[in-house]
Amino acid sequence: MALVDPASITRDGCWLWRGAGKGNGYGSFVLEGKTWPAHRAAYLIFNGSHPGELDVCHRCDNRACVNPDHLFLGTRQQNMDDCRRKGRTARGSRLGPRSGEDGTAAKLTWDQVRQIRASSAPSKQLAAQFNITNDNINRIRRNDTWKETQ
Ligand SMILES: [Zn+2]
Repeated sequence: MALVDPASITRDGCWLWRGAGKGNGYGSFVLEGKTWPAHRAAYLIFNGSHPGELDVCHRCDNRACVNPDHLFLGTRQQNMDDCRRKGRTARGSRLGPRSGEDGTAAKLTWDQVRQIRASSAPSKQLAAQFNITNDNINRIRRNDTWKETQ
């Protein structure tokens, strides 16, 4: 496949997407006028079926990988469970925001960050609930820290 450089196939058989990176480790690909994470586009291209609402997960835990043999479909919940099992959530929590910058790095998980973003409660209340500062809450809401990957 032309979009995968043979030189970027790893020892584990991962196919690293050349167009990788908007800084989050996932490749991107424009399909149907929409920017897709490369692994989702790869799933569609190789399997001929649309992942729809399902997440495309990596067996190999390599975000830039588009090897269809390494991709599988799961629900958002399964994907999160899978990530948790592989420890990606723990790694993400450490590396998620520019680490240590605002002190929320070690205190929050992605689940909590999503809860904060989904909540319409006043930031003061959330700050108390999650034991972080008001300012931390505002930065999370502004997407200054804990940037979503897609
Ligand atoms: Zn892989």
